[in-house]
Amino acid sequence: MDHKKSQRIFKQSQKLMPGGVNSPVRSFAAVGGGPVVIARGTGSHIWDVDGNEYVDYVGSWGPLILGHAMPQVVRAVSETARNGLSYGAPTRQELAMAEMITSPMPSMEMVRMVSSGTEAVMSAIRAARAYTGKDKIIKFEGCYHGHSDGMLVKAGSGVLTFGVADSAGIPEGYAKNTLTAQYNDLNGVEALFKANKGQIAAIIVEPVAANMGVVLPKAGFLDGLRRIASRERALLIFDEVITGFRLAYGGAQSVYKVTPDLTCLGKIIGGGMPVGAYGGRQDVMGVISPVGPAYQAGTLSGNPVAIAAGIATLKALKPSIYKKIDSLAAELEDGLSSAAKRVGTPVTINRAGSILTMFFTSRQVVDYPSAKKSDLKAFGRYFRDMLEAGIYLPPSQFEAMFVSASHTQSDIKKTIDAASAAFKRTFASKMDS
Ligand SMILES: *Cc1c(COP(=O)(O)O)cnc(C)c1O
Repeated sequence: MDHKKSQRIFKQSQKLMPGGVNSPVRSFAAVGGGPVVIARGTGSHIWDVDGNEYVDYVGSWGPLILGHAMPQVVRAVSETARNGLSYGAPTRQELAMAEMITSPMPSMEMVRMVSSGTEAVMSAIRAARAYTGKDKIIKFEGCYHGHSDGMLVKAGSGVLTFGVADSAGIPEGYAKNTLTAQYNDLNGVEALFKANKGQIAAIIVEPVAANMGVVLPKAGFLDGLRRIASRERALLIFDEVITGFRLAYGGAQSVYKVTPDLTCLGKIIGGGMPVGAYGGRQDVMGVISPVGPAYQAGTLSGNPVAIAAGIATLKALKPSIYKKIDSLAAELEDGLSSAAKRVGTPVTINRAGSILTMFFTSRQVVDYPSAKKSDLKAFGRYFRDMLEAGIYLPPSQFEAMFVSASHTQSDIKKTIDAASAAFKRTFASKMDS
């Protein structure tokens, strides 16, 4: 494959933007070699500026559950835009969106729209603190909740990839209010409550972790968090920015049947446009301005064009879509797993519905320390081989592959064949070294 145009554009971009990107993982720093610059996408495929075609498993990091440039979503956006892009005033679309979010997620009695997942989490935490009158938050190592100050402690994905334990530029005062436990470890959570009696406002968790690679909650983990939070008069916040409308229409909370006090959404509810939302119990959301004392606002919050993309996406999410993406992802998991086995490549694949991660380790991955055991060099080689074979994977071991409703059996087959060849090369070069 020829990447000349991508290389030229990226070189110029590095002079004008930090790392040449507007979000760190896009730089391919974890896998080396520089990114390809994307020109367009349709369905499950994307094309770079050199004209190379790829099967895409990033899907804009989750929002594109239907695929790229879906006609009904594009139509909704352009028809809405014709009436004006933004008013900074209430619209009918916002009410429609609020109804579409709260009805499949009964724990969300009220909701407020924002413009990103980061903003949703930041605001939910403010609400939790205002409601409980306490300051401290428990999060889990390897879980990512956006880039707000307090949440960049032991956060996943980009932060893990670049080996920054805590981001620079965060005052100690913020970090000290963020306590961390290991995912799937209830004893650690109990110990934090014991050591910080009466000071913890909330536990925030990705009900299925997807930012240290996909890591599933063990049986009883989410229930345990619910029980502890209620007992300690702390709130339970589910960060469903990835899992909401992804694992099921009602999110992870409907799959695992655990009811959080607050939920954060993003990604899919914007259908590829910048949208986030947070919501939950009516009494908790009552602390939010203008009804309550906790201020939170946004010039472009509930933007009608962005909301239109979200509504068109959610409307398309019939039960048959979930059946399809889950079974395609299962096929992919099986194919990758047997291809790795044939070559003797040690991998562990974690999958929840249509999101999956293949870790380059033979051990089970149940939390951040076990995810970190992966062979990142092997992942880097595999990633590059797959890219050259026309398969666009997330450029980090600590991310999820996203299967969309536009993926086909032939996409899956092509991916498994490419992986099989990549395993052989990786394994062979390992034998040499
Ligand atoms: C992506 C993500 C966020 C942040 O959302 P942005 O829209 O990137 O700000 C928060 N939480 C989780 C679980 C995410 O995956």
